[in-house]
Amino acid sequence: MHLSPALSRIAASQTTAMTDRAIQLREEGRDIISLSVGEPDFATPPHVIAAAKAALDAGDTKYTAVGGTLALKKAAALHFARDLGIEVLPSQITVSAGGKQAIFHALLATIGEGDEVVIPAPWWVSYPEIVRFAGGKVVPLHTHAQHGFQFTAADLEAQIGPRTLWVLLNSPGNPTGACTSAETLHGIADVLRRHPRVMVLSDDIYAPINYTGGPHATLANLHPDLADRILTISGVSKSHAMTGFRIGVAAGPQWLIQAMERLQSHSTGNPCSISQAAAAAAFEGPQDFLIDWRERFRARRDLVVAAINAMPGLSTPVPDGAFYCMVDAAPLMDRFGDDAALALHLLEHGVAVVPASAFGGRDGFRISFAADEAKLAEACRRIAKAVA
Ligand code: GLU
Repeated sequence: MHLSPALSRIAASQTTAMTDRAIQLREEGRDIISLSVGEPDFATPPHVIAAAKAALDAGDTKYTAVGGTLALKKAAALHFARDLGIEVLPSQITVSAGGKQAIFHALLATIGEGDEVVIPAPWWVSYPEIVRFAGGKVVPLHTHAQHGFQFTAADLEAQIGPRTLWVLLNSPGNPTGACTSAETLHGIADVLRRHPRVMVLSDDIYAPINYTGGPHATLANLHPDLADRILTISGVSKSHAMTGFRIGVAAGPQWLIQAMERLQSHSTGNPCSISQAAAAAAFEGPQDFLIDWRERFRARRDLVVAAINAMPGLSTPVPDGAFYCMVDAAPLMDRFGDDAALALHLLEHGVAVVPASAFGGRDGFRISFAADEAKLAEACRRIAKAVA
């Protein structure tokens, strides 16, 4: 066995590992409710499926341009303008195999040895691992449940130093569901103006799933003068229940888009041609069902939050967006040792969740409530029994 120093710096994704484990146990005949992966259970909309079939029938089965078809880039430009208020040309957009690949390529294409990346924690599992793989240094910006996992612009500025290259923003956030307000983003814009080297990767993949009632706030919309330092990530996986299609889109300065495509030209090449046709249909087709889906997520959120907060030893704030809640289980750690042991214990009781430590947190676990109410209610009953 020979592993590169870069690979030795990172672990496998714990969200996908826990999901694989749940699938394996199910295949062995165990009754497991998987609340580990962030994946909407809704069926992919019929017009999207029809577009994928039409692409197959039309023979769209060959290479496309590495960074995506012009048709999809135009559809993505429509999406960025309509849904995020970001005006970009197709040449400022690239398409990748999921938002994860866009993040991977952006960081790999820019980070030099020792460059620092500030990441609000708890964070999505892959952010720090990608930074470490690229040779960068992760600078955590710790947030806490009692403050709704929020941070201020001053908190952020305190983490910025001469080696800071990127700040990662993720709102609505995975795994906390926290949303960054326009007011905080105005403060962040002021910080950025004082630190001209720093770029922002704004992961807006959960933008349509926002329960605050207000509009989605994002930096490139609020401060277009900073747009040449912002890469905004979006996609169809979470919004349109298209996780398996693997399509993410990124909008940013042309030099960065070209750098990402240069890397992509040597890794996967173009994203799947059929998926690209489906994603274009998702961006261009009806969007009204997203409101219904969001309200169904809200009902599920309320069910899970109420059930968890009624269990002795467990608590969670109410997430403002996405479909996750970060459960604090600190009072149970005397019994279980650590959150990985607790997650295994819950798995034994038939519920797969991801330990908080996977997200740079501790003493808790993340629940993905993108499952139907009956499953969520049964999962909560099992969790209550497991920790009683
Ligand atoms: N982003 C989702 C999650 O956090 C999908 C799995 C992954 O790529 O991490 O569960």
